[in-house]
Amino acid sequence: MKDVVIVGGGIAGLASAWRLRHWDTVVLESEGRVGGRIRSERRGRHWMNWGGHVYAGGDSATSWLLGSTGVDSTPVTGSLAGLAMNGKLLLRGRVESYPFRIPMSRESRVGMLTAGAKVALAVAKYSRIVRRRPGEDPATRQQRIYDFMNDRSFADFVGDLPEDAEALFKPTVTRSSADMDQMSAGAGVGYFGLVWNIGGGLSQSIVGGPSTLTGAIAAALGDRVQLGAVVSEVVRKRGSVVVRYRQHGVDHEVEARCVVLATPATVSHRVAVDLDRDVREALSKIVYGPYVSAAFLTNETGRQVWDDAYAIATPKRSFNVLLNLSNIARGLESARSPGSSIMTFSPGSLARDLLDRDDDDIRDTYLADLDAVLPGFSDHLVEAEVQRWPTGAPYCFPGRAKLQPTLTRPTGRVLLAGDYLGTLYTETAIQTGLSAAQQAQSLLATDHQTRNLITT
Ligand SMILES: Cc1cc2nc3c(=O)[nH]c(=O)nc-3n(C[C@H](O)[C@H](O)[C@H](O)COP(=O)(O)OP(=O)(O)OC[C@H]3O[C@@H](n4cnc5c(N)ncnc54)[C@H](O)[C@@H]3O)c2cc1C
Repeated sequence: MKDVVIVGGGIAGLASAWRLRHWDTVVLESEGRVGGRIRSERRGRHWMNWGGHVYAGGDSATSWLLGSTGVDSTPVTGSLAGLAMNGKLLLRGRVESYPFRIPMSRESRVGMLTAGAKVALAVAKYSRIVRRRPGEDPATRQQRIYDFMNDRSFADFVGDLPEDAEALFKPTVTRSSADMDQMSAGAGVGYFGLVWNIGGGLSQSIVGGPSTLTGAIAAALGDRVQLGAVVSEVVRKRGSVVVRYRQHGVDHEVEARCVVLATPATVSHRVAVDLDRDVREALSKIVYGPYVSAAFLTNETGRQVWDDAYAIATPKRSFNVLLNLSNIARGLESARSPGSSIMTFSPGSLARDLLDRDDDDIRDTYLADLDAVLPGFSDHLVEAEVQRWPTGAPYCFPGRAKLQPTLTRPTGRVLLAGDYLGTLYTETAIQTGLSAAQQAQSLLATDHQTRNLITT
């Protein structure tokens, strides 16, 4: 019997497995690679990136994991607030000045300023909600964040907006994978808080690309990570849990003292067949929005207009933000090395418009928009690859707060982990993975004591 089986080799499962590395464990991952929604690949000095790219810094679970595994991170360099809209590219200056610098009608400008002031007030309230209170446990804080303005959608909160004003809002809010009428008002406001809180929110990049972290953990765990192992059932027994899976066409069964279930909620709901009914029901209510992303590698040798930017919002395009990943490598060099790595990112309805199209079509659509925003971009192209993420990220919808107490209730020897348990994406995934590992260790220690008592 294993001590712990970890189902899912995304960052939640790997964080758990790392914490439990001194126990007898195995990670069962259905795909042929670890990392789940984290995916990057090295190309010389650069890396192409398709998934998560900026991470929590400061006193976070992510910082702990990076420090403990010896993987380097660095603050994101370059402007995070670039904007390309209505034929204008803005890479400098204060965000508040954008409505005056982008060509738009007077009606749109007034609508933008009115809604902007309303959101800024709500962000100030949100920053008080999100602040850690002395002696408070993380679950209480997380519940407070979910409760904030969870009774209506972000679209209801901002009201009707003129076209250009809505176009300016959308790229920030919908990065969470939901459209403005799907997400709660609090989640939309929180997203502005996250983006405006430059330096305090998601502010760190992983040197060498995000897969450096997942790859380093997997390498350290060696054959305790099993790839191509598709778990179909997790069944509780008295004092243990049985996990059934199929690998390379062969059915297997493994028994463990406990299981960390670190799969997306949709999968956890399906495989954990005998979890308490209300927990399974809560899992089935988690909603994910889709993403489509693409990574582009170029070979230009001179300075480019995008060199000083990290993120450029691109309203009214097939992607709503473009990210200059090469900025991270560039921050570490004394002379500009050739080439760039750019990622395009389409969430929610933009992704739904692309998901059914073939890769070449998506690539050409992206390149046409990249050329419109950064003239001449495709002249330097050497590599491009599209990635679909049908379950890109779980989002906070009106009413989501009510599910949290059920989802975080103790579930015996099947411990839940994953980004759907909170509002901070990878940080939530890592934090819940580590916390599940902690609970597993307590269970194992109690089992050990019980066995000792019986034998003495
Ligand atoms: C394009 C994109 C951009 C993003 N940007 C950011 C960002 O900048 N910052 C940030 O913090 N977050 C970002 N995110 C979100 C972040 O990537 C996720 O929150 C995080 O990676 C989720 O980790 P996880 O371990 O909870 O889930 P996952 O990564 O989904 O891991 C779950 C794992 O379970 C495996 N699995 C599924 N079914 C089974 C089964 N039956 N048996 C065995 N294994 C199974 C999957 O293959 C997967 O490896 C982004 C996501 C995407 C897609």
